[in-house]
Amino acid sequence: MTERRCIGCWQLKNRDELIKITADNSDGELKINPDTLTFGRSVYLCYNKTCIEKAFKKNKMEKHLKAPVPNELKGQVLDELRNS
Ligand SMILES: [Zn+2]
Repeated sequence: MTERRCIGCWQLKNRDELIKITADNSDGELKINPDTLTFGRSVYLCYNKTCIEKAFKKNKMEKHLKAPVPNELKGQVLDELRNS
């Protein structure tokens, strides 16, 4: 099962069509598209601005990750979108 659900639009998509954000179990840092050795609670987002905006509203991201989300994370995710 490689389909994951975007927390912005709630659609199921293939893993490689989504941005993955993981709260790393080892250091608690949030990592965007981490390597396969990073484990922790994760969320997925489509590569589009609408989904990213939605995910960062109302602490949605924090609720899913059960971790504090730094302000700069949104900018980093948007960079990821631009560079994709
Ligand atoms: Zn989406």
